[in-house]
Amino acid sequence: MINKKVITRFAPSPTGHFHVGGIRSALYNFLFARQNNGTYILRSEDTDKERSKIEYENEFLELFDWLGLKHDLFFRQSDRLEIHQKYLKKMMDEGYAYLSKEIPTEEGQRDEVIRFKNPNKKITFTDLILGDITVDTTDLGDFVIARDMNEPLYHLTVVIDDFEMGVTHVIRGQEHTSNTSRQILIQEAIRATRPLYAHLPLILNKERVKLSKRDESVPSAIEYKKRGYIPEALLNFMALNGWNPGGEQEIFTLSELIEKFDISQIQKGGGVFNPEKLEWVNKEHMKHLSEDVRNKEIIDRFQNNPGINQNIKIKDEKFLLKLCPVIFDHISKWGDIDTMIGVGELDYYFNAPQYETNLLYWKANPTPEETKKHLEFILDTLKNTPEDNFSNSEKIKSLIFDYATKNGRGQVLWPLRVALSGKDKSPDPFTLIYIMGKTETISRIDEAIKKLS
Ligand code: GLU
Repeated sequence: MINKKVITRFAPSPTGHFHVGGIRSALYNFLFARQNNGTYILRSEDTDKERSKIEYENEFLELFDWLGLKHDLFFRQSDRLEIHQKYLKKMMDEGYAYLSKEIPTEEGQRDEVIRFKNPNKKITFTDLILGDITVDTTDLGDFVIARDMNEPLYHLTVVIDDFEMGVTHVIRGQEHTSNTSRQILIQEAIRATRPLYAHLPLILNKERVKLSKRDESVPSAIEYKKRGYIPEALLNFMALNGWNPGGEQEIFTLSELIEKFDISQIQKGGGVFNPEKLEWVNKEHMKHLSEDVRNKEIIDRFQNNPGINQNIKIKDEKFLLKLCPVIFDHISKWGDIDTMIGVGELDYYFNAPQYETNLLYWKANPTPEETKKHLEFILDTLKNTPEDNFSNSEKIKSLIFDYATKNGRGQVLWPLRVALSGKDKSPDPFTLIYIMGKTETISRIDEAIKKLS
């Protein structure tokens, strides 16, 4: 049982686009703080003046806001220079750090930096995931902790800030394990309490290599927002990379994750980032949305897509509401709609299709008379069907299906589908008729008959 108030922090550096793997570290810090009624701090580590950019900080702030990982406190390291200087000065006064003359070996290198006076000792710390780790710090030498009094570096600032902010648990990626001994030496020098450490397993790509920013198949985190993933689904997916609560359940809301997360169950070995699994998790979350929410998301995408938002049908709400469930069945994230529009997959819903007459023939068997005869039968039938019946695809099916069974389903239904969609793949013709309505259906079948005449 933890009897001290838990304080966690996630400390990204705004030196590039925020990587999707970082979501997991943020999430675990958030979950652990929430389940212990603790405090979750977000700290922007912008000590690298050359590489840090405010755009990158804004990017992760936007990301966490979208994901719903609300921090309790936010700090920016560059606002804390005076605090860092105070400690640095004290360390120098006490002989824990010193100004070191350097011989520059490359252009632009300094001839003076501040180094830590390494006591060259063995450090043992207990990692909540990896167990006891012992490091002989002699190998680290007197490492640099500041360029000068105005530019303290990562190891120093991270230790000072964690201490000043009362951080009790440092939960971060395994790439930082090797930094921990340096940071403990600095802690001892400034007489800071040692937090508990939990170094998270690596996230691997399908080739079982550490996922990196350079991995083309894995876009930066903010792209997931743009592509229309459900934030809770992305959290759900990331949470299960390196941890799972056991049992069958794979779909979790954020509150379920807060309840079930168990830091002691995090695995040591790396987990594989599987994009197909994310698509599945996302779709499962989409299925939990109400029909109204789904429809609104889909219609919003239509209305914001320059490829179709000038089309007159974009104002026909009745039509759009009929189309929405068909679209929903074919997507696993909202952005798939833009992809479908981009490749013209939805064109035929919005515009009369263009196609070669040959496509109307079932199995490349050109029988214009027969094809025309079937289409004429359907046209007549539909013309004599009251408008109301078009609101039910089963009813439409019952009008045509017996005829199709008698005359060959392919021979009858194939040309009908092509007449409506101009494609060799589409939803079944009854669904298309239902979506398009009587007038549009009749006009498209009419066009097909004209092509055959
Ligand atoms: N700022 C460091 C980074 O972005 C993380 C520091 C830490 O978690 O201790 O890699």
